[in-house]
Amino acid sequence: MTTMAQVIQRIRNREADREDWLYITGDAAELAFDTEADLGYPEFDEDTDEEIDPPGFAERGLRSTIDMTTLDDCIEAADQLAGTKDDAAALDVIRYYIRFDAWPNMLNAPDPPPPEVTLLRLDREFVENLGAEDNARSCNKEGCDRGVVSLSVFCRRHHFESVRKRPYPFED
Ligand SMILES: [Zn+2]
Repeated sequence: MTTMAQVIQRIRNREADREDWLYITGDAAELAFDTEADLGYPEFDEDTDEEIDPPGFAERGLRSTIDMTTLDDCIEAADQLAGTKDDAAALDVIRYYIRFDAWPNMLNAPDPPPPEVTLLRLDREFVENLGAEDNARSCNKEGCDRGVVSLSVFCRRHHFESVRKRPYPFED
């Protein structure tokens, strides 16, 4: 069997084919040096356009993940983050890329937050940037007795809803 450690060596030694894809076994989150992995390229059925794995790969539980260009980019990114040619860093970045379809901005990066968490954080930033409400003028929204934020005729909540076209997500 071939392991992930050997695969990284083959890529570093330029023994891989430009057409190759990385095939791995198991859950990408568990990808380690001793995980069974291999390089190979799929054929495509001319009639159905279906991907046909290299011979024997399916029997070994191997499935395709990322192509050679992406692998090269992962290893280059890892070497830059590590400041040296470090296979542990390469493994780390490849694992992250397969899981999240993105490069980490540091080694051993935590999982990225789910999209809704990121959106809430951006909303909070937007709201904070509006500054305090000026109570000398009241919000133009009917029935609202709050002050207005800078450069707006609305309070924080109603300014948000007028600009973002969706409900204000906070309690304050
Ligand atoms: Zn208001």
